[in-house]
Amino acid sequence: MRIVHTIADLRAARRELNTDIGFVPTMGALHDGHISLVKRAKAECGSAIASIFVNPTQFNDKADFTRYPRTLENDARLLEPAGCDVIFAPDAQEMYPQGFDTRIDIGSVTTQLEGAMRPGHFAGVATVVAKLFNIVQPARAYFGQKDAQQVVVVRKLVADLNMPLEIVAAPTLREADGLAMSSRNVHLTAAERAAAPVVYQALQAVKAAYEAGERDGETLRAIAKQKLSHEPLAIVEYVSVANPRTLDELDGVAHDALVSLAARFGKTRLIDNIVLG
Ligand code: AMP
Repeated sequence: MRIVHTIADLRAARRELNTDIGFVPTMGALHDGHISLVKRAKAECGSAIASIFVNPTQFNDKADFTRYPRTLENDARLLEPAGCDVIFAPDAQEMYPQGFDTRIDIGSVTTQLEGAMRPGHFAGVATVVAKLFNIVQPARAYFGQKDAQQVVVVRKLVADLNMPLEIVAAPTLREADGLAMSSRNVHLTAAERAAAPVVYQALQAVKAAYEAGERDGETLRAIAKQKLSHEPLAIVEYVSVANPRTLDELDGVAHDALVSLAARFGKTRLIDNIVLG
């Protein structure tokens, strides 16, 4: 496994890999969720490249960017046995040299949910992902369903700009108590960590109601909010039952639905989702 920091070195290392490339973009502080994506990329494509870049342009909250965990050495230790061939870990200057001035705006699927709470976030994501795709030139790129709106945005980026690669969405890996693995979980205090599984429990309550026949969007959203309201450490930002492709809120669930929510536990913001139908 090689670790490279410049675009020129990445291109040189990539040329030596004589298979398709499976690419996993990350911001580092890796956990089993990220590693599952890398293993799948390696198994399905022959070679795996992971990027580690805490992208400043997708953070609308400066404090969140500053305290985002950075653990490159440990990340490399986890990536090697997962079959990663190359780690691309550029700095901000390499990705955004002086004069950089392009921004990709994806449109309607970025106005709701995370896009509404984090203005500019998805323009930052779309722009950096487009750059990374052009740098790495993968056959497939792997993303976690954990960030469901990101998957929708990246699929639209690739379709609208005719990018020649396939986007693969992989299931969310969870801790034993249901909490979705996240690099931000390390910031939770012991009390917040103990409270955090309520996020998944709220999603499971919605699923149980759906399976019992409930189809009304407002009722399903209320069930999640009710569950979350029992946990005083959880400050809810949104609960959504939406069309999984357009992300528009549903009055009623006809075929399928993306149930997603965001909640703050102290300074740490957690998101999670499930798909119904
Ligand atoms: P991040 O480093 O948080 O930007 O995440 C990099 C990639 O890993 C994204 O595609 C995420 O959706 C994915 N990911 C993050 N957490 C998980 C998880 N718990 N299970 C599966 N994939 C995840």
